[in-house]
Amino acid sequence: MDTIVLKFGGSSLADNKKLEIVANKIIKISKDNKVVVVVSAQGKTTDNLIKQANELAEMEDLSDSQLNKRELDMLLSCGEQMSSAKLAILLNLKGYKSISLNAWQVGINTNNNHQNALIESIDITRINKELENGNITIITGFQGIDKYNNITTLGRGGSDTTAVAIAKELKAKQCYIYSDVDGIYTADPNKIPNADKLKNISYEEMYELSSEGAKVLHDRCVEIGERFDVPIVTESTFNNKPGTQITHKLECSGIKSIVKKDISRISVIGFGINSNDNTLKKILKIADKHSLEIFNIDISRTKISVVFKEIVKDNVLQEIHDVLI
Ligand code: ASP
Ligand code: MG
Repeated sequence: MDTIVLKFGGSSLADNKKLEIVANKIIKISKDNKVVVVVSAQGKTTDNLIKQANELAEMEDLSDSQLNKRELDMLLSCGEQMSSAKLAILLNLKGYKSISLNAWQVGINTNNNHQNALIESIDITRINKELENGNITIITGFQGIDKYNNITTLGRGGSDTTAVAIAKELKAKQCYIYSDVDGIYTADPNKIPNADKLKNISYEEMYELSSEGAKVLHDRCVEIGERFDVPIVTESTFNNKPGTQITHKLECSGIKSIVKKDISRISVIGFGINSNDNTLKKILKIADKHSLEIFNIDISRTKISVVFKEIVKDNVLQEIHDVLI
């Protein structure tokens, strides 16, 4: 049987009904595969925990930056511990053997950079033992331990990175990242209704998209995927449509996706984009039409980013999308 890694994001685990959809999906896949599951915290749990810590700072008339980072990691890591345990409880109730493990039980070793720790190594002995015992093995995303056994966290959205790193160590056949969107689109489908889903995108392009503000994948997980050839697929938890495969660069070039970061930075991503100066001309023409002043332009072989001096509305994004794609 092949080993595969399934990662479920917070919105896929938000309540008991969704937990049940996730459990049934895992059960189906576990019939033909050894399954390792990596989970985020349920719904807005991490945001709520941060809010609670911030309220303590406020009460003491101090700023958030004065919160002790080690203790914040101790607090934030609770979210993933809850979701992993609940999922394992549910799978066991359904008659499927399952065990949840947190970072120190696995041995996900990181540096001591609290709140943004880097994974240094993962011990797969315990995971392999649980898989051999027939357990669906559920692992807390986002957390690690430093060399003194302090709990660390990998930065917001870091569960994706846990999943891809574990897939790499287990030499998994595939790492599925499940969320409430069913793949990577030519633009955020919540803002641009006619955006198209991509069948595949290269690691390099996906990395740019993630760093330029697309929320679907943590940029660090894409980097690990590229470096160690981990096949990553993003799919929806809630439908069975084929998602987007992240692969090594194919022979094709062209514009893949357009993304807005913050309020005034628009990036057009696609390998070889710098070899066609029409792309920039078209963007500048639209900017001119809307009397948008340009603050900075940044061009590389995979990306053109334009930073405007003012807020860029979604209708401008829509026009750029329609002209270029
Ligand atoms: N729960 C963490 C967060 O909200 C990690 C993750 O979801 O990947 O950032
Ligand atoms: Mg995420």
